[in-house]
Amino acid sequence: MDIEEAFRTINAQVSDGDVDACFYPYKELKHTWRARNGRLAFRISDYMRGSPDDVLESAAWFLTCRARGEECPKSFSSRYLEHVRSAEFWSNCRPLYISRARNLSFKPIGNARDLNAAFESVRLCHFRGGLEKPDLAWARESPSRRIAFLHQPLKVLAVNRTLDSEMIPTFVLEFVIYHELLHAVMGCQAYPDRRVYHTNEFRARERQFAKHDEARRWLARIAVASEGGASLKGVVPQV
Ligand SMILES: [Zn+2]
Repeated sequence: MDIEEAFRTINAQVSDGDVDACFYPYKELKHTWRARNGRLAFRISDYMRGSPDDVLESAAWFLTCRARGEECPKSFSSRYLEHVRSAEFWSNCRPLYISRARNLSFKPIGNARDLNAAFESVRLCHFRGGLEKPDLAWARESPSRRIAFLHQPLKVLAVNRTLDSEMIPTFVLEFVIYHELLHAVMGCQAYPDRRVYHTNEFRARERQFAKHDEARRWLARIAVASEGGASLKGVVPQV
């Protein structure tokens, strides 16, 4: 079954309208749709190419319902959701993802900071040296968009390159890594329609970081500086 056939089959069960669907090489796993001349046109992440037929059908159910603003019965969507949350799926996608992640540098030693050293310090102090080590990367993107992320299935922890600076204390970098590693150990609260990551319990544990308040203030300043297009030097005090 190809992707268009999957969407046509599902769409015919819920609508008289027509539908187009094709794979698209998005950098991340994402899917988009828009209405064009009365037909819905889906662009499906090409990470899904080669997925089993029942996964494509389940994805078509899930996305057709989303596009129509309707809730998708769990029994229809679960095959797709299990598939894209599986370690096997991401281990297959990993080479493609890494090749497209041009904003990531996997050399941990930056201009001023060493991600390896910061990671090991956090792991030792806060996780008793435990935790599987992900691949560490510097990410080049606006810090107002995100300051770091942990992609658990891909085992990648990326930190915004802005923190690779003599002007920003090392504990800010360590706090950001600590935050991401907490996600690795605490998981999330799953509700039928959403997942909550920053629970009260998560925030309480986050505050156990010795310089939590100070680190948060730094991150707020960095976000404001980047939003206003100001240079870091003008906003962040020298240390
Ligand atoms: Zn978080």
